Amino acid sequence: MTALCDRTGHDLAAALRAGEVSAAEILAATTARIEAVDARVGAFLTRTGDLAARQAATVDARLAAGEAAALPAVAGIPLALKDVLTTRGVRTTAGSRILEPYVPPYDCTAWERLAAAGSVLVGKTNCDEFAMGSSNENSAYAPVRNPWNLDTVPGGSSGGSAAAVAAGEAVWALGTDTGGSVRQPAALCGVVGLKPTYGLVSRYGLIAFASSLDHVGTFTRDVRDAATLLSAIAGHDPRDATSLPEPAGDYVRGLEDGVRGLRVGVVEEWLSMEGIQPGVRDAVSAALDRLEGLGASVVPVRLPHADYALSAYYLIAPAECSSNLARYDGVRYGARAAGAADVVEMNARTRGAGFGDEVKRRIMLGTYALSAGYYDAYYGQAQKVRTLVIRDFEAAFGQVDVIASPTSPTTAFRLGERTGDPLAMYLSDIFTIPANLAGVPGISIPCGLADGLPVGFQLMGRLRDEATVLRAARALEDAIGFAARPPLVAGLPA
Ligand code: GLN
Repeated sequence: MTALCDRTGHDLAAALRAGEVSAAEILAATTARIEAVDARVGAFLTRTGDLAARQAATVDARLAAGEAAALPAVAGIPLALKDVLTTRGVRTTAGSRILEPYVPPYDCTAWERLAAAGSVLVGKTNCDEFAMGSSNENSAYAPVRNPWNLDTVPGGSSGGSAAAVAAGEAVWALGTDTGGSVRQPAALCGVVGLKPTYGLVSRYGLIAFASSLDHVGTFTRDVRDAATLLSAIAGHDPRDATSLPEPAGDYVRGLEDGVRGLRVGVVEEWLSMEGIQPGVRDAVSAALDRLEGLGASVVPVRLPHADYALSAYYLIAPAECSSNLARYDGVRYGARAAGAADVVEMNARTRGAGFGDEVKRRIMLGTYALSAGYYDAYYGQAQKVRTLVIRDFEAAFGQVDVIASPTSPTTAFRLGERTGDPLAMYLSDIFTIPANLAGVPGISIPCGLADGLPVGFQLMGRLRDEATVLRAARALEDAIGFAARPPLVAGLPA
């Protein structure tokens, strides 16, 4: 029998309404799992057990009062939040020492909406410092380990959220994706990761890394749960100036409509690229064959400027971060270094002690790219490339409905393998970054194993066309029937 904490959100929601389980029981199973594995996985920075118990009790009271029909879909389901999403009264560190003592006075919009709908928060998850990284090794606290193989990374920067869902330490989770940080860790941990259209989910209360690229996204065990969670957090928010105007949609509707007639674009150079692990290429090719078998047509498309997307990203993201992180001055938030003679020294000491190497590297890169004399050559040029990438997507989506690719060129790599080589680390996001530059939605679903580790299959769609991306992902997920579980949880009691 599958443990409660390993089931999907929609399955648990049905069981709750049928009176088969209580929210307290689901929470107890999830808490037991955290106790059993988190010393090894390290998914959580802060646990919120008391809050979770109160929230679960509220849901059970509503069920006892006969309100099952009025209960939102996310009610009573254990959730984890990446620690860059602010939670009122609950420490929020962004994986950084500089925010170690920071307790936000407000909730991010995504969590505010979920909390109002009865969601049960089990904790805040570990992540790369300020979401900068692809392996979770840039967390100031500890690395996270991949439940599939504890010697490998879970991906990053939302590695804690991905690992928690993979290991049954939460039924679903939120993360953030600036260059791939939801899709890539989802791929490496064998779960579903969705990055919606830019602006569809409010960034209010998301601790900023690169504001024009930051997206809130979801980690779930299947596509239906991704649609459910997205429906609960999407929709206009006047507190985010880049929030799209439309109200939230129902992303579950139409999910089972299949892919007959759907045009799936493939960038052929991506699949033949040097550096793709052969097992990744094989699993992705097999998934493309399945899509054809389901009645979709697979056709070549070109994204000619995507080759430059990574370079443009590593100018634009550091430029925006150098500006966003100027606010950590020892006065307004979090930590302050003691013993400085004046405010300038206090500021320098606080930032020197509070930020890790990767954050400092990005602030320096970004400050340089924005400085007078270099602005046009670097930042300005990168913005032009960004426009060309956006046009590439527009042209491609004139020919196809979705674009498919591997999510990551490799499966989970070993801890320490890429830490000495930032450029090798940056290449982890080669297939995910273009969608951030263009703002288009993207999803990663597990499509098989290569050498015992999960492979992610990415589908990208037109702006605001989450419906097609989710429908195609759902059909493929059903055809693939990926049911493997991390060995870590296989022997645990149900
Ligand atoms: N790995 C990329 C980076 O380090 C993306 C991170 C993210 O999406 N937050 O910038």
